[in-house]
Amino acid sequence: RPPLPRPAATRVVVVANQKGGVGKTTSTVNIAAALAQLGQRVLVVDLDPQGNASTALGVDHRRGVPSTYDAVVEGAPLAGVMAECPDVPGLMVVPATIDLAGAEIELVSVVAREGRLSRAIAGHPQVGTAEEAGEERFDYVFIDCPPSLGLLTLNALVAGAEMMIPIQAEYYALEGLGQLLETVEMVRQHLNPRLRVGTILVTMYDGRTRLSSGVAEEVREHFSEQVLRTTIPRSVRVSEAPSYGQTVMTYDPGSPGALSYLEAAREMASQGAPA
Ligand code: ADP
Ligand code: MG
Repeated sequence: RPPLPRPAATRVVVVANQKGGVGKTTSTVNIAAALAQLGQRVLVVDLDPQGNASTALGVDHRRGVPSTYDAVVEGAPLAGVMAECPDVPGLMVVPATIDLAGAEIELVSVVAREGRLSRAIAGHPQVGTAEEAGEERFDYVFIDCPPSLGLLTLNALVAGAEMMIPIQAEYYALEGLGQLLETVEMVRQHLNPRLRVGTILVTMYDGRTRLSSGVAEEVREHFSEQVLRTTIPRSVRVSEAPSYGQTVMTYDPGSPGALSYLEAAREMASQGAPA
């Protein structure tokens, strides 16, 4: 297959869903790794104090390492807080340390508290159009959000132009989605008019159960435009990879989970940049 064309400008993708355990982190790290393997320049910003994305990408996130906290709370330039993923050359990561847990509260008294991450990302010289940021620009910045709709997630929604919402193919999957979409609408009206839901990804799909296919069908009915054709199967290899500090893309590249994430990454890339 031909190599992926680069987007004309950096795509800042917010991976959000206030439900926990739906596959936000897994999808972030694997799609990011897949795009990097396909030759794209990719940055992952870990915005969850748990630091699961940092763990999965094999990047140190012990207290004291330069992290998302420094960028968001202290206003540190992004260039000084990123590290390279050891397994995927060129894939850059801003790790999350446990300090970020305090940020929700610390930010309350900070000026322009919803725009901190946006400033950090937009202020990075490698973010922007080809003209602004040149050949060294990032093609994608993925922001892995915590499972809540607090100030951290709000910062992500202000910083990005497109969202990716992972939906777990399980009962109750669509519960809470209304609240998420209301938040998106509120952000669009007051803080970030560019924001749109670009991608919906059905995760942990089990084709043998009617429940899984039922959920996938319902999601497609509601969001025909945004849902990727590719679904991510439930697979032990996917869930094992993080304990080796790896994505499934390097842990078991031929496995169904890795191949699905590769396909999802290609589909996302072909959807193109937002207008
Ligand atoms: P979130 O970031 O939304 O909280 P995670 O990506 O951490 O969700 O996933 C929650 C749990 O489900 C993790 O233990 C992860 O390893 C597991 N998981 C995610 N995707 C899959 C999959 N396709 N197959 C099997 N387990 C998965
Ligand atoms: Mg997570």
